[in-house]
Amino acid sequence: MKIDLRSDTVTRPTPGMLDAICKAEVGDDVFGEDPTINALEERAAKMFGKEAGLFCPSGTMTNQIAINVLTKPGDEVVCDYTSHIYQYEGGGIARNSGVQAKLLTGDRGRISATQVEESINQIFDWLTRTKLVSIENTVNKAGGSFYTLQQMKDLSEVCHRNGLLMHLDGARIFNAVIEAGYTPAQIGPLFNSISVCMSKGLGAPAGSLLLGTKDFIREARRARKVFGGGMRQAGYFAAAGLYALDNHIDRLKEDHRRAKVLAEAINKLPYIKELLPVETNILIFTLHDAIPLDYFMEILNDNGIQCAIFGKQTVRFVTHLDIDDNMIDKTISVLKKIN
Ligand SMILES: *Cc1c(COP(=O)(O)O)cnc(C)c1O
Repeated sequence: MKIDLRSDTVTRPTPGMLDAICKAEVGDDVFGEDPTINALEERAAKMFGKEAGLFCPSGTMTNQIAINVLTKPGDEVVCDYTSHIYQYEGGGIARNSGVQAKLLTGDRGRISATQVEESINQIFDWLTRTKLVSIENTVNKAGGSFYTLQQMKDLSEVCHRNGLLMHLDGARIFNAVIEAGYTPAQIGPLFNSISVCMSKGLGAPAGSLLLGTKDFIREARRARKVFGGGMRQAGYFAAAGLYALDNHIDRLKEDHRRAKVLAEAINKLPYIKELLPVETNILIFTLHDAIPLDYFMEILNDNGIQCAIFGKQTVRFVTHLDIDDNMIDKTISVLKKIN
């Protein structure tokens, strides 16, 4: 039994998804002629109460396009220091858009309206122009924590009042939706742009959507082409995305339930220094020095279990579509034997 807990990106399409992929009608999306992509863009935009959508190869690209379109070189984007846009996109904020990041330290990755308001630069020639606020929901590097609707409303209100634009990195927004009980339609109006991944918990092989106004998406389409993300008959991927929206949102609660079962067991292990609170499908934990990370991973590996390294003694597990209850039981029994 192979148990891959490295990421929720490792899922293979289910038979139903593969069937949808095979039956997809496709066309050349650079000409705007792929009916399945058009349907997915429209569907996702409607869900979040936005005017339009843009299908892109990855969530890195949707984030980077949003930053590129919403800023000018020399501006700054305010975000938590754990943010994917800052940590895991190859320095793209600076490299692609000539923009700098102003890093805040939020509550497990969640920045507050007060923090944002205090971070805004005054208008002086020698100060960077504070232009964009980007939040992540759920927060990957902080262990899958999510924002409440009120927290997002407060942030939006501060941005609005101060003329700042707001981006949502919603790679795992449906995990937040399922757990927090708000709807995409409630979130949409709070942001200028929203990135949503089909290839994380939703289980599609690739693809992310960028959502916003028609004008914003027109500019984003240009940027996508410049970034090399104009795909042709990519409706096969979009078909997987549509299938995922129909079939794989509600089941995310299964992933959350399994993550909590794992968390309960991990919290009882004597060699765990800290497990971040588990709110959705991500577990981040740190081992005591007595159990070196290499040794820990070797034992897992010998038992067919894979995990991701998230620091010197820190590990990440992610539950997903291809992890079932048996795999959780097996993982727990292996973890218990380590000493
Ligand atoms: C995975 C992820 C992305 C996008 O990653 P890609 O691999 O480029 O699709 C963006 N933000 C967060 C928080 C993520 O976890």
